[in-house]
Amino acid sequence: MLKSLVNRIALRRKRRKEELKNPHAVAVRRLVPKCLVCNSDPVAHEFAQLASIPINAETKPRVIALFNHVKDHEWEQLRDFTDFRGDQDDAIVYGVIGPHAGGMVVLIRDPTELYARVEIYLEEKITSDEVERIKALVPPAAWQELPG
Ligand SMILES: [Zn+2]
Repeated sequence: MLKSLVNRIALRRKRRKEELKNPHAVAVRRLVPKCLVCNSDPVAHEFAQLASIPINAETKPRVIALFNHVKDHEWEQLRDFTDFRGDQDDAIVYGVIGPHAGGMVVLIRDPTELYARVEIYLEEKITSDEVERIKALVPPAAWQELPG
């Protein structure tokens, strides 16, 4: 019993360390408790940021355009969305791939305030052909493993 407690503390410590090291990975992990493709914990899955844009009155039409591109699986269009403002809420698109054919794409709102909730706008399942298309959008080094 003591051993399992010690293990649990060690695990939590490791998680916290990873959280500090990579807040994005932890945020995505929280957003994707289950992979839409394999219907299980996204262990050994990887993610990459595919697009981002700040959300404000001026960018509203572009945010809507981004939403529609994701909804319509127009992945090549994501290349036009690379702006990010840490002092504003941002819309961010992540790709998630796993040890199987196909993957998923999520569009989220990343709030400025550290403790505000991240919201999911869209969650799309994609085919293996589409996985190749989203892989072409970012360098191979952009993919990171999701923390367990
Ligand atoms: Zn999966």
